[in-house]
Amino acid sequence: MAEGLKLTCLECGTVNRVPEAKLGAGPKCGTCGARLNDGKVRALDPAILQKATKTDDIPLLVDFWAPWCGPCRMMAPEFQKAAQALAPKARLAKIDTQDHPQVAQRHDIRGIPALILFQRGRTLGHLAGARPAAEIEAFVRKSAGVSA
Ligand SMILES: [Zn+2]
Repeated sequence: MAEGLKLTCLECGTVNRVPEAKLGAGPKCGTCGARLNDGKVRALDPAILQKATKTDDIPLLVDFWAPWCGPCRMMAPEFQKAAQALAPKARLAKIDTQDHPQVAQRHDIRGIPALILFQRGRTLGHLAGARPAAEIEAFVRKSAGVSA
């Protein structure tokens, strides 16, 4: 029986299993070799977004953004900072709602940037509007119970 936490590779979509004790050891995807939780914000496509939000055992915070949105672009470095602070226990990713409007519709996004926190197929919380890194980090820690 396979054990460990399920983490969808945000590059290729393969579901990997990582023992909890190895989360901080720089685990890589068994298929493509990408780091699974290195604190880098990755751009998702709709298929990987759907898989990761349904499957992942560690929290995934998704930034629904668009290139035309000034506040979204302003928040990007803050979002990256929060991703670094929350690695390896949680992951942050983004999806371009201009390229993928159906995704915004499916998740009922009314304004961007919008942040939604997912874990094991559940939505743990929403955060609307551009936020500083500390606020993003605190939101994930509180909503998903991620310790420092
Ligand atoms: Zn991969």
